Amino acid sequence: MKTLNFYKLATLTAVALMAIASQAGAQLRVVATTPDLASVARDIGGSAVNVAALAKPTEDPHFVDAKPSHIVTLNRADVLIEGGAELELGWLPPLLENARNSKIGAGAPGRVVASEGIRLIEIPTSFDRSKGDIHSLGNPHFMVDPVNAKIVAANIARHFAQVDPKNAAAYRTNLAKFNSAIDSKLAEWQSQLAPFKGAKIVTYHKDFGYLTNRFGLQVVENLEPKPGIAPSPAHLAQVIGIMRSAQAHVILVQPFQNRRTAETVARQTNAAVLLVPQQPGALPNTNSYIANMDNIVRTLAAGLGRK
Ligand SMILES: [Zn+2]
Repeated sequence: MKTLNFYKLATLTAVALMAIASQAGAQLRVVATTPDLASVARDIGGSAVNVAALAKPTEDPHFVDAKPSHIVTLNRADVLIEGGAELELGWLPPLLENARNSKIGAGAPGRVVASEGIRLIEIPTSFDRSKGDIHSLGNPHFMVDPVNAKIVAANIARHFAQVDPKNAAAYRTNLAKFNSAIDSKLAEWQSQLAPFKGAKIVTYHKDFGYLTNRFGLQVVENLEPKPGIAPSPAHLAQVIGIMRSAQAHVILVQPFQNRRTAETVARQTNAAVLLVPQQPGALPNTNSYIANMDNIVRTLAAGLGRK
């Protein structure tokens, strides 16, 4: 009896494993450079895709720690979603070169450039990377505007349908669902931030411009003198002066930025330092793009509304 049960169990296990394997084989293997793009890809792909992100939620998307495992992941990918606008310029190209995967090569259906169709802000008038500015094509932090997230979602859905036509209808349906979820959330976020129209804020890096444009706030200074250049005492002294005269009372930082520098400035300007990660999953209960935007808006409203 025992032996029989064992064989039965073994057979059942083998069948189950084969089912899992064939299911996994049928799923599109999607790699996104950052967790926000990965979250949107999951919403659009649903059960037809398996999504991994290369960057950790707490990592600077400009400076991701490249690992051999990233090469393996990219080598096996059917689709790669990158932010574009040179967001990943410092780390993605060498990984791709080593991964040798033509499915995700530049221009291939399996290569999604999220920034396609986004109206970039802060495009420099002169193209010069030698000054150290890492935003030389314009500002690549566009995902914090939910309207841009819809453009990105459409880019992802279009490429998914090209690579995997049999599920095209499902991708279209999921895109419509995502868009209506964003639309209803956007109204909520707008009313949460409406009392703070025109409020002046400071950010560590130039990474919240799309959000402040969308919600009618104003970034008056950045702690970095230029994107990617560390704050200097001379620049910080200038920022302190501007914050005092402009009445800016919040400084936004992300997990990988130097909070102590922000706190030094905050002490001299009676400001609050707000930790507002742009990537889902950096804080508890922020695992999806929408949940994370909820947290950004909630934290910002609380910080602007204090006292
Ligand atoms: Zn940047």
